[in-house]
Amino acid sequence: MSAAICWFRRDLRLTDNPALAAAARDGRAVIPVYIHAPAEAEGWAPGGASNWWLHHSLEALTAALAARGLPLVIRAGDSLLVLQALVEATGADAVHWNRLYDPAFIRRDMAIKQALRDQGVAAHSHNASLLNEPWTVQTGTGSDYKAFTPFWRACRRQGEPPEPEPAPTLPAASAGIRALPGASGLDEAGHEPLQALQLLPGVDWAASLRDRWIPGEAGAGEQLETFLNNDGLAHYATRRDQPAVAGTSRLSPHLHFGEIGPRQVWQAVQHRLAGDSDADSREGADRFLAEIGWREFAHHVLYHHPDFPEQPLNPRFADFPWQEDPDGALLTAWQRGETGIPLVDAGMRELYATGWMHNRVRMVVGSFLVKNLRLPWQAGEAWFWDTLVDADLASNSLGWQWVAGSGADAAPYFRIFNPVRQSERFDPRGDYIARWVPTLAALPPKHRHAPWEAPESVLADHGVTLGQHYPHPIVDLKASRQAALAAFEQIKKPAES
Ligand SMILES: Cc1cc2nc3c(=O)[nH]c(=O)nc-3n(C[C@H](O)[C@H](O)[C@H](O)COP(=O)(O)OP(=O)(O)OC[C@H]3O[C@@H](n4cnc5c(N)ncnc54)[C@H](O)[C@@H]3O)c2cc1C
Repeated sequence: MSAAICWFRRDLRLTDNPALAAAARDGRAVIPVYIHAPAEAEGWAPGGASNWWLHHSLEALTAALAARGLPLVIRAGDSLLVLQALVEATGADAVHWNRLYDPAFIRRDMAIKQALRDQGVAAHSHNASLLNEPWTVQTGTGSDYKAFTPFWRACRRQGEPPEPEPAPTLPAASAGIRALPGASGLDEAGHEPLQALQLLPGVDWAASLRDRWIPGEAGAGEQLETFLNNDGLAHYATRRDQPAVAGTSRLSPHLHFGEIGPRQVWQAVQHRLAGDSDADSREGADRFLAEIGWREFAHHVLYHHPDFPEQPLNPRFADFPWQEDPDGALLTAWQRGETGIPLVDAGMRELYATGWMHNRVRMVVGSFLVKNLRLPWQAGEAWFWDTLVDADLASNSLGWQWVAGSGADAAPYFRIFNPVRQSERFDPRGDYIARWVPTLAALPPKHRHAPWEAPESVLADHGVTLGQHYPHPIVDLKASRQAALAAFEQIKKPAES
């Protein structure tokens, strides 16, 4: 019987996985493989939080495949060499995978496809992770989109996405496959193959991540169900901006690792709407699906601008006069959530503790870093890359260039979030601040947003001494705003003259 290799990457699921379905077609033996090759990401190897997630997601995938009698082969090394060795060892005549859109992976996968075909192995790639692949959406003049609204309108004009495919029936592994080192539970050196990848941190900082998340396909399904069952759609439009409540789906890491795909999310939302004629649910569903659309837009922009993670899309920003931070004190205070600005600190502490941060707060902490501290957006992008469980090259670059004002459909640079007003508006009772900066929970809610403005007597009565229990602000919000606007004027001038 012929065999086909299914090369898992960031599509760690069995349902709606076209590569797996294609490999299993006609009852062929399937050899599922995961290859750990961080160097192939060319400078964007996953960070610590992503690696933690990946470990557990691979564990879940291993168990799901094992339940169907298939061992997941886990290997580390050069992807092409590993695939060629597997072809050689198993006699497989086809390799299937689902496409990734990070520039380094596009280059790598094209080379691998060619090399496999040159040696007579059928190599096929499929779409598991997007509703609309980047090259399928074009303006009337055949170019890419630079703004979200027309992009999403064009996507919607393409009609409903295809129905997700059920998990294929998988034939049990052949005897030859079971004999592969790494497929039998231990690698050549006698190690558990997953442990040998050393994805988990040496020092266990991940306890709060374990409490918060269930990586894997089943966890993703549960997360979506919870969101929909808790009337997530009906409340989405109003709650999505409130960081203190669970008003968004929290699907981002599951979507990033492909434990669930956007077609499945789309279908689940449509099914839910079919039994719910409530106008709020419909509005919420539109807003929610538009966020899935932002994810699509991020991939579209990255595909058409491969240097987007490093270079400002608007070239004027290449000369932006960033602030000197010679000893890194400003950046460190921001990373640790010790800026003295409560909403910023709450967000940064939520990120460090859970690997995730609410979208509104991501915008606020980003604006604070880039505009009030005037540190380069790439510094924030790098920290997010290491600490987010949903760190995604496309969405992270889009988010940071949006915040900086240099990207596609970005916030104008002169619109500078005031973190105190944002906090008063979106966390009016200061609940989010109290959760993540417990020192400030002692203060009456109205003084949690800007404790330095609270009367001395209020601080004293509640046992809070600024500089001792909680930092003084590291910058003056008004003066730093003016400085940012002045800096922006400098890069505006040449373009206008
Ligand atoms: C500076 C900055 C950096 C960001 N970095 C990332 C990142 O690395 N990875 C990431 O997935 N998102 C990133 N985002 C986007 C957004 O903050 C998260 O996707 C969202 O907070 C995830 O929460 P959720 O799953 O509850 O979202 P929901 O509101 O439930 O949205 C559903 C899904 O839509 C997608 N989505 C939502 N908002 C956006 C957006 N603005 N851009 C792209 N996709 C979106 C996500 O896949 C999300 O899971 C970033 C935003 C900013 C401002």
